[in-house]
Amino acid sequence: MTAKLISSSPFSLELPQKIPGWEQFIQAWVIQGNPTIVVDVGPRASVDSLINQLNEKEINKVDYVWLTHIHIDHAGGLAPFLVEFPTAKVVAPARAIPHLIDPTRLWEGSLATLGEKAIAYGPIDPVAKDCFISQEDMALEGLSILETPGHAPFHLSFCYQDFLFCGESAGVFLSFGGKKYLRPPTPPRFFFEQTVGSVDKMLALEDRAIYFSHTGIYPSSQEILKLYREQLFRWKELITEILRSGSNKVVERAIEILLEKDPLLACFQQMDILSQQRERFFMANSIAGFVGYLKSLS
Ligand SMILES: [Zn+2]
Repeated sequence: MTAKLISSSPFSLELPQKIPGWEQFIQAWVIQGNPTIVVDVGPRASVDSLINQLNEKEINKVDYVWLTHIHIDHAGGLAPFLVEFPTAKVVAPARAIPHLIDPTRLWEGSLATLGEKAIAYGPIDPVAKDCFISQEDMALEGLSILETPGHAPFHLSFCYQDFLFCGESAGVFLSFGGKKYLRPPTPPRFFFEQTVGSVDKMLALEDRAIYFSHTGIYPSSQEILKLYREQLFRWKELITEILRSGSNKVVERAIEILLEKDPLLACFQQMDILSQQRERFFMANSIAGFVGYLKSLS
């Protein structure tokens, strides 16, 4: 099946969370037309907002949901979303789909990693097996689906026409009036080579606009992916040095040093205090990922 090309640019719908500092951190991307596609539906807590915003735009039918990965802030709202849009077909990383059909382990893992934030995102309900279609069946002119593991063991990026939906495989991106903030989302278990390999896969594509799940658009995939690649190596080098120094507060020390030395984190200073707290929380997780990886080498 090949559908005709659409022309409209993707737009984002903000999915505000009740966690202080998380108000502008999660969004869904929507391509409206033939077909209409939603990339990542967000967590359960904001799915009503997503549905309302789609209804306000008179989008009453969604053809496809593309899930970049199944973390609950991207996929937790899928079951109630499909109640509202029952004909939508879902593409997700094949090996992650069993965890959406029976989300018991996904929920336990989310609680263990995110604690009270998982509760704020809301629970995850089971999804019927027949709502999924395979990547091979997702045939659309101008679409290629790339496996881009790293942030999550199973992660997809969707390159569709002039748009590259990278989920979290090109970092967490925030824009501050023309200046960019970029942070690796690399929670344990983190595999450095796999993550860099995914970046290289996307670098092999022609330059195009890149759409981050967290958050916004950057006009040049080549430019931001190269910066992200350099940043991954910079973090590896700096965290290796801290481990070698024998510091007994590796994570705290790494946050301090990275904020001082990583130019892509400079905009941290411009954030409000709650956003800084959010970023410190994720930075600690990401550094723990690097530490686990580096220790596994020795
Ligand atoms: Zn994620």
